[in-house]
Parts: sequence; structure tokens; C-alpha cells
Amino acid sequence: MGNAKIIDGKAYAERLRSRIAEAVFQLKVKHSIIPGLAVVLVGDDPASQVYVRNKEKQTAEAGMASFKNKLSASIEENDLLSLIDDLNKDTAVHGILVQLPLPDHIDSGKIINAINPDKDVDGFNAINVGRLTAGNKGMVPCTPLGCLMMLRDYHGSLSGLDAVVIGRSNIVGKPMAQLLLGDSCTVTIAHSRTKDLKDVVKRADIVVAAVGRAEMVPGDWIKEGATLIDVGINRIDKPEGGTRLVGDVDYDSCSAVAGAITPVPGGVGPMTIACLLANTLTAACRANSVEEPVGLTA
Ligand code: NAP
Repeated sequence: MGNAKIIDGKAYAERLRSRIAEAVFQLKVKHSIIPGLAVVLVGDDPASQVYVRNKEKQTAEAGMASFKNKLSASIEENDLLSLIDDLNKDTAVHGILVQLPLPDHIDSGKIINAINPDKDVDGFNAINVGRLTAGNKGMVPCTPLGCLMMLRDYHGSLSGLDAVVIGRSNIVGKPMAQLLLGDSCTVTIAHSRTKDLKDVVKRADIVVAAVGRAEMVPGDWIKEGATLIDVGINRIDKPEGGTRLVGDVDYDSCSAVAGAITPVPGGVGPMTIACLLANTLTAACRANSVEEPVGLTA
């Protein structure tokens, strides 16, 4: 354990959800609009079922409408595309989320790109990827959006800071890098082929680790006072039996050097669903040309 300030994602997410619930209430009272999120779940993957249940619960708690579409793992791609088409046309649905992964016989990219970009609350549609890259208004992927909110809250301005994102996935690493660039950080994206990763990480004021390798980043890679955002979720065995969750950074050695750090669990994770609610609210406001609450998107 060290001196680093703990960035409490759980508490931040709770505050964000109550702000969203208040804005949803006002939208109902003033404009008779109820933001609606349609979740599409294909098959019986246990982890996906848990995620979807949590999303439904939190959507309802925020006062939004939740529409669940549970489909058999053997559904044909064309039938899934027609469901997306129906949801695109449904004016009660402002956000559409297709829970990934999809079964192998379905082309996930084709499904995601069939979602109306303005209802694409996951921000994975190629149009939204382009909007983010171009610095235009769009839907921003939830996990990096949550990281950005916590970084802005902690630092105030991110302008001019040196940021290193470890990981280049389409759902975390790449959009995270674009968001940091949008806030005028000097951004480096590192990945499995990066040479001298320690030296690259050591110069960063902000490190976002999104790798999926338990406790990969040790404290001696970290510049004194840096801010660490740990996206990783890894389950490891405990010496006494059972398992526990850890991130991609080695919490004990890193928190001795860092200025601030997100814990795992209780850091980035809770922000992801809160940002899904934020995106659904933003989408509902935009669809109805109502002014959107500030601070809910990039
Ligand atoms: P991913 O698609 O597997 O991408 C991992 C990235 O890490 C890849 O770009 C890979 O590089 C890079 N990498 C792998 N080994 C490396 C190494 N030794 N050194 C440097 N880079 C390395 O994973 P993801 O979907 O982005 O997720 C990353 C982690 O975040 C996972 O633990 C996941 O569970 C977690 N996650 C958490 C949330 C949340 O809500 N908290 C949301 C999403 C993901 P290459 O591209 O070269 O292979």
C-alpha cells in the first residue's frame, strides 16, 4: 500500500447514476420522454446473462425503460438483422445494445454496423468510431468514457499531459487514446509488440492499462505521482484457496509510487454501466432535440 489517492469509481458511478436519474425524471416531467434501452442477448453465456441482468436493473433504477430481447443461440443472422431494423424504427427505443460475444455463425461487425449510429450506445458502430476520430459529436464507448470522466474529475484539465494507453482493442485502447487526444494529451498507444514498454510507461503522467494480464505493470515502471487507470479485470487464485479479482497493474507496488490509482474491483468497472445509462440519456435527448445534460459525454 502506498500514498496514492484512490480514485473511487464505485462512489463516482453512484453520484453519476443519481445525476442521471434526476435528469431522467426532469425529462419525464417536462417533456413526457422516457429514455429506453433495448438489450439484445443471444444464447446462454452465463457471464453475458449476468452483465445483461445488471444493465437491466440499473436502467430501471435510473427510471428508464428497459426492453430485453433474448434470442436462441441458433438464430440466423438475417433474423437478428431484422430485429435490429425493428429496434431502429421503434421510437420508444433510444439506445440499442447487443451483448457481445455473439455466436460464431453471426458476423458481429455486420450486426453492430446495422444499429442506427444515433442509438449505438456502445459506440462500436463504424460511424461512431469515425465521429470520435474526427472529433465530431457521436456515441462514445462506455468503458473509456468512464475512464475519461474520472481523469477529468481528478485532474481538471488534461491538456499537455503525457498519456500512455497499454492495449489497442477497439472497445477500450483505441477509443481511450482518441478521447485523451481530444483532451489534448500527448498520447502513446502501447501493445504486445511495443519495445521497451517499461521506458514508455515510465514517462507517462497518465497510464491507462487495458491488457487483460494480471498485475502486469509493476511499480518500478511508474513515474512518481502519475495517475493510473486500471481497466483490467483478471481472476487469480488465492494462496489460501478460492479466487480474487485483480487488475493489470500491481496495486501494492504501483500505489506506492503513483499519485492516484483506480482499484480493482471498484474502479473502472462500476463506471462502465453508469456510462451506458449516460449514453442512453444523451441519445434520448438528441433524438427529441432536447438540450442534453452537461458532462455526460466527451
Ligand atoms: P483485448 O481485446 O484482449 O486487448 C488487449 C490488448 O492488450 C491488445 O491490444 C494486446 O496487444 C495488448 N497486450 C497483450 N499483451 C500485452 C503485453 N504483454 N504488453 C503490452 N500489451 C499487451 O482486451 P480488451 O477487451 O481491451 O480488455 C482489456 C482488459 O480490460 C481485460 O482484462 C478486460 O476484461 C478488461 N475490460 C474491463 C472493462 C470494465 O468495464 N472494467 C471493460 C472492457 C474490458 P496486441 O493488440 O498486440 O495483441
